[in-house]
Amino acid sequence: NIIFDDLSFQIYQQQMYLDKLEYENLKRDLRSAVKNGEFKLYYQPKIKINDNQNKIGGVEALIRWEHPTLGLVSPQRFIKIAEESSLIREIGDWVIEEAFKQLSNWQNKYDSDLSISVNLSPLELYDKNKSARIKNLSQKYKIRRELIEFEITENALLDNRSDTIKTLNELKNLDFSIALDDFGSGYSSLSYLSRLPIDTLKIDKSFIAKLADSRNIILIDSIINLSHKMNLKVIAEGVENSEQLEIMKKLNCDEIQGYYFYKALPVDQFEKILEENYNY
Ligand code: C2E
Ligand code: CA
Ligand code: CA
Ligand code: CA
Repeated sequence: NIIFDDLSFQIYQQQMYLDKLEYENLKRDLRSAVKNGEFKLYYQPKIKINDNQNKIGGVEALIRWEHPTLGLVSPQRFIKIAEESSLIREIGDWVIEEAFKQLSNWQNKYDSDLSISVNLSPLELYDKNKSARIKNLSQKYKIRRELIEFEITENALLDNRSDTIKTLNELKNLDFSIALDDFGSGYSSLSYLSRLPIDTLKIDKSFIAKLADSRNIILIDSIINLSHKMNLKVIAEGVENSEQLEIMKKLNCDEIQGYYFYKALPVDQFEKILEENYNY
């Protein structure tokens, strides 16, 4: 028994060592990833379901890292590392510029109202110059700001920092939209809905995965009614099958995002869908 425990401890230590090594390696490689052009944005379509036409209203930009030796690394892994090392500022600015460039491209190419949502991490909101830089970029690329939505998560708001809310208000005053992402996944507080300048509420995919539970349906029904009374748009993420879609339609959800329609796509594949299926 003692020998066994000793061995499992060694294995545990080895694993810790490997995790730490991997962490350090990723962190090192992240530093050069922006410069080396290893990031790409993928675009996941959002489908408008409230008018029964099922059109694409916009997309969420989702970052992808093509690591030279490891291949595609999930943002779940590297965004956290970037946040811990403040590299998130550089990466976040790159994401915004890339998304603006893409929107201006689509504005010229399609003459459409296609919108783009961009994820902002909490650290980016603490940055006092963030909204000024975003404003400059929006002028550089001549984009219609009302077509850009920034998605923030509840964690960004937890510590109640005034600089977070200040940045959000500045963005809002510039005509950008704000969405509260992953709603219901963490320490959701209904008071956010009245205290923050938000336009959209994004119901977390964990809720959508548990629609078989009737209590969950009641909860979502109430959230949607409440949101609509407050003039917020409601979008559900993680819709994977037609049952979930039908329930969300009945509950008057405005937009749907999920594998049932599309996963996040590279820009050329997304444009092909626009042109072939939606007469763009
Ligand atoms: P998120 O903002 O909640 O984005 C939604 C995630 O759910 C995406 O994962 C998307 O691909 C995935 N997803 C979409 N539809 C479905 C579905 O039907 N079922 C399931 N199970 N998943 C679905 P992804 O792209 O791996 O991104 C993970 C997280 O990484 C994002 O969660 C976001 O928090 C973060 N992230 C991604 N791109 C960026 C970025 O540019 N900046 C920042 N700060 N964070 C980002
Ligand atoms: Ca998001
Ligand atoms: Ca989300
Ligand atoms: Ca999430």
